[in-house]
Parts: sequence; C-alpha cells; structure tokens
Amino acid sequence: MAQAAKRHVLVLGAGIPGLQTSLSLLQRGHCVTIIAAHTPGDLSPAYTSPWAGGHWRSHAGTSSSDAKLRSYDSRTYQAWTQMLNNAHANSEGKVKSEVEAEMGLGFRPARYYWGKDIAETEGRDGRGIWFRDVVDDFGVIDLEQQKEATLGEEKVPDAAVMGIKYKSICFDPPKYLLYLFKVVQDLGAKVIKTSVDTNSGLAGVVSSCIAVLRKEGIDEAFAIVNCTGLAARHFLEKAEAEKLFPIRGQTILVQGEAEMTRTFVGLPDAPESDMLYVVPRPGSGSTILGGCKQIGNWGEEVNVDINQRILAGMKRFGLCDELRGYDGEFEVLSYQVGFRPGRKGGPRVEAEGKGKIEGLWILHNYGHSGAGYQNSFGCAEEVVRLIQSLSTV
Ligand SMILES: Cc1cc2nc3c(=O)[nH]c(=O)nc-3n(C[C@H](O)[C@H](O)[C@H](O)COP(=O)(O)OP(=O)(O)OC[C@H]3O[C@@H](n4cnc5c(N)ncnc54)[C@H](O)[C@@H]3O)c2cc1C
Repeated sequence: MAQAAKRHVLVLGAGIPGLQTSLSLLQRGHCVTIIAAHTPGDLSPAYTSPWAGGHWRSHAGTSSSDAKLRSYDSRTYQAWTQMLNNAHANSEGKVKSEVEAEMGLGFRPARYYWGKDIAETEGRDGRGIWFRDVVDDFGVIDLEQQKEATLGEEKVPDAAVMGIKYKSICFDPPKYLLYLFKVVQDLGAKVIKTSVDTNSGLAGVVSSCIAVLRKEGIDEAFAIVNCTGLAARHFLEKAEAEKLFPIRGQTILVQGEAEMTRTFVGLPDAPESDMLYVVPRPGSGSTILGGCKQIGNWGEEVNVDINQRILAGMKRFGLCDELRGYDGEFEVLSYQVGFRPGRKGGPRVEAEGKGKIEGLWILHNYGHSGAGYQNSFGCAEEVVRLIQSLSTV
C-alpha cells in the first residue's frame, strides 16, 4: 500500500480520544502536536478520562443504527488484545503483573448480570448480545445451577434474570493515560499545555490554536482534531452544543484487586440510574466499585447515599466478597465523581462539514459517553482515514 503523505496534525485535548488519535496518527507516519489544558496526571472535574471505571463492555445494540459503534468497539477489543499479547511476548522476563502495571491494562474474566429483562436479554440465550462472537470465552451463565454455588465457585446474584461471561480487558485509567502519553511523546508528539480561547466559536478556537502554534515557532499544520469532550459545547454552534450533556458517575476505589470484573444492572429496589460494577485495576492492587449514570447531573460533590448504596449492594449480591476484610468491610482508598461526555446521536467522529477554517481542515472525535476507552482505537483510526482522504489544496 502506498504510504500516505506525512501531515502535521494538531490534536486539541489529551483525554483518551486525543491520546489514541495522536498515537494512531504517529503510527501512520504523521506529525502531531497536542494542545491541552489538562494532561495525564491532572485531576479535574473538567477532565473526564482519569475518572473512568473501566473495562471493555460494549453498550451498542443490535440495530443497524449502531453499526458504527459496534465497529469502533470491536476494533478496540481486537487492538487491545494484540497490544497485550505483544507486550507479554516481548516482556523480557518480566512477570505478567509487571507488564500490566506498566501499561495499566490487562485481560480479566468478566461476569455481567441483568436484574430485569431488556432488549439484550431477549431469549435469555445470548442472541441479544451483538459482541458474543467478538470477545473470547463468551458464554451464557446457567443461573439456576450457579445460585447453588458451593465454596470456591463463583456466586451469582440471586436477583439476576440473566448472566453472561466473557474475557474482558480492564484498565487503570490514570495509569493507562500516562502510558499512552509517554508512548506518543517518545514517538515525537509535541505537547503544549495551555487552554485555548473558546469564547468566539469554532473559528475563534482555530485562531487561538494557530496563535499557540506560532508562539512555539510552528508555522504550518494540515488539520485540527477536536477531542475536547464535554468542553466542545463551549464553542460549537448552538444546535450541536445542545446535543452534549453530562452523565454523572460516582465510584469508590478500594484496596486489593478483585479476581474479575462483575457488573449488575437493572437492580431491584434501586433508582434507575444505579448500577453495580467491580473493576480491578490491573497491576495496581486496587479495584473500582461503582456506580451510577445520572443524566444531566453536574454535581461535583461526592454523594454519601450513593456510596452507601454501592457498598451495601456489593455485600447484598456478593459481587466482590474477596476484597472484604474479616469485619466484612471494604478498605476504602478514595471516592470520586466524573462526568461522561454524553451526546444525543452518539459520538461525533467526522470532518467538519463547512470545509477548511483559516486553511486548516477540522475533524471531530468527541461525545463518547461511557465508551471513550473501549472505542478508542476504532474512532482514532477513523480519524486517520479521514485525514488521509482530505485534500492538501
Ligand atoms: C465513572 C465513569 C466510568 C467510565 N467507565 C468507562 C469504561 O468502563 N469504559 C470506557 O470505555 N469508558 C468509560 N468511561 C468514559 C470515558 O472516561 C470517556 O468517554 C472519556 O474519558 C472521554 O474523554 P474525552 O477526551 O472526550 O474528554 P476529557 O477526558 O474530558 O478530555 C478533554 C480534553 O480536552 C481538553 N480541553 C477541553 N477544552 C480545552 C480548551 N479550551 N483548551 C485546551 N484543551 C481543552 C481537556 O483539557 C482534556 O485534555 C467512564 C467515565 C466515567 C466518568
């Protein structure tokens, strides 16, 4: 295949979509400058990426309108699998947990339970799960048999109506962001840590980016990729800005690494927005317990009632008993809140329809809701394809 012309691309934002876009561009031989107000290592309510769960569990459905989401998620599952297999194969004598700790990424068994029937539980035999043929080790759990679990066997929540198991990929968001940040800089990405002015619309953002580049002695660029997450609402046109909304999440970091990731949705006797999930952070010795999806809620304070519901739910359904101490309690390390970047219509991964601004093509990669990690490769590679298809004149 002919090598695409090398282009200088400015990536605005250093969350997971910004970093993966940078990496995919660099791996195709392009030149990248990242401009971002927050970078890995920072913690702020305005920077969603460090607050993620997180594990691979596609939220796409089986309808044709979700085809793109399915392709983004399945590509990322495949790419992460390859990345981890390569890392373990080239680990030069390091043990598995060391490799995982360096990357903040690892394979983990997953269990997923529903307390109420929805489209995904149709037939209760896996036909409603589009990714059953994408992930490794997929199977439907025999709930009746496992409700009788004996010592040493995996328990299932007694209120579950369906359960599946598969091989998932779990990540430690702060660690994985730092890992990617180092990789892209080692590959030559230049990072400029600053905030660009968002008060004069998209054209103002482009002018501000160009001014930042000039100050650094960079006079040419081919395109800007907007990876600003929820902040895109500050400078895009009203109709687009109104599509963006927060989906508040709250989690608890506890001591110890759970044996697997477990999720229970459609909980009995709980608010619709509640769910329970356990996500071990590979190589970190800690686990995230969640959570909730509160649409339109910008509350930054940790809600004590939600903490109690998470911890009580874990105990009631036996979702993470291996981490409870002799007293039956978890050792809590911290509580956190984050805002998933919701967007009506799903993520926006496309070129700006109105053509160039000040000589630069504009592309978008934002609005990933609760899927910005698990779709990261698929979306970034779509951006690379778009950039390579754009004209140089
Ligand atoms: C509780 C919770 C659980 C989650 N679990 C999962 C999961 O299990 N799996 C999964 O795939 N996803 C999960 N997510 C979702 C995932 O975290 C998000 O989709 C993703 O982090 C969004 O990244 P982003 O880069 O779009 O936004 P952000 O991380 O907010 O990054 C935006 C970037 O743009 C920069 N920026 C914004 N405005 C400006 C400006 N004016 N000038 C310069 N820079 C600017 C910011 O500084 C930052 O670098 C979860 C999220 C939460 C909150």
